[in-house]
Amino acid sequence: MVIYIRVICYLGCMTTSIDLDRDNDMHAHARASHRGQSPGFQRIRIGKLLITALYDGFVPVPADDLHGAPPAEIHRLLAEAFLPPKGDRRTAVNAFLVEENGRRILIDAGSGNSLGPDTGYLVTNLAAAQADPAEVDHVVLTHLHPDHAGGLISPEGQPVFPRAAVHAAKADADHWLDPDRSAAATGVQRLVHDTVARALAPYRETGRFVTFGHADEVVPGVRTVDLAGHTPGHTGYLLGEGDATVLFWGDTVHSHSVQLRRPSVAAAADSDERAAIRSRRKAFDLASSNRWWVGAAHLPFPGLGHLRRDQYGYSWVPVTYTPVEATSTEPDSALRIA
Ligand SMILES: [Zn+2]
Repeated sequence: MVIYIRVICYLGCMTTSIDLDRDNDMHAHARASHRGQSPGFQRIRIGKLLITALYDGFVPVPADDLHGAPPAEIHRLLAEAFLPPKGDRRTAVNAFLVEENGRRILIDAGSGNSLGPDTGYLVTNLAAAQADPAEVDHVVLTHLHPDHAGGLISPEGQPVFPRAAVHAAKADADHWLDPDRSAAATGVQRLVHDTVARALAPYRETGRFVTFGHADEVVPGVRTVDLAGHTPGHTGYLLGEGDATVLFWGDTVHSHSVQLRRPSVAAAADSDERAAIRSRRKAFDLASSNRWWVGAAHLPFPGLGHLRRDQYGYSWVPVTYTPVEATSTEPDSALRIA
């Protein structure tokens, strides 16, 4: 059975076809044959932070939604990344669990069931990583879009993180949770308002939704970086210290193939494209000049790595896969040549 549904994604709205029978067949086949993908988590220790990158699934980033360069230029950059001119059909949705000093902080919550069957795997992958949602102390949201906040609730509307306080920028809460603005919204915007209100409801009802201004630390040790533009309160989070500092960002990059080379290319879902471009340049400059690690929601899974400035703009240096305890910036003494 092929059905056509309109899917809200963080980039806007599009019509996509999903063959449910084939999809179900694929999952059933994967379970039966044990030939499915490896679990969608990857751990890395960076300084005092134990970070588990979590794969929530994938969303399309259509080329038509990228603004600020001629289509031919965007198509050329996509082709150089071995992508079709239509864009990247399978852009990752990543979230990050950070454990430090006995605290467990989740950065973004994935999509839940708000965006259809290609997303919503965060809880499955948390379980695969042997992490319990009930042990999450804080969920800090980069912004209030469905692929970042939809996973706060189960399909039945129950809170997925029963103990956690959920944090988001006041500017985003004021925008997306405003009843008048929500009532006046139409189309995709209305769906975003409704999805976010539903996802936050159980946390608001129990006093566990907390908003912050840009000057604040969200919780001790979690500093904010104002990256407003994609949404009014779009925020990056800084954890760690020294060369073990990590900047976590949400939708600073949608299409790494295009926007690392052309940071002036904006996305259709940006609330304020000019502000989003300014924030992207700011984030790129901060991360590359300070040599910070980056944890990114929409770079290829696991979305952890470094950003390097080069003659083409910026390039991405992904983390390498290693055993957890082997993660270190120090040379292994056993390998030193005396
Ligand atoms: Zn997003």
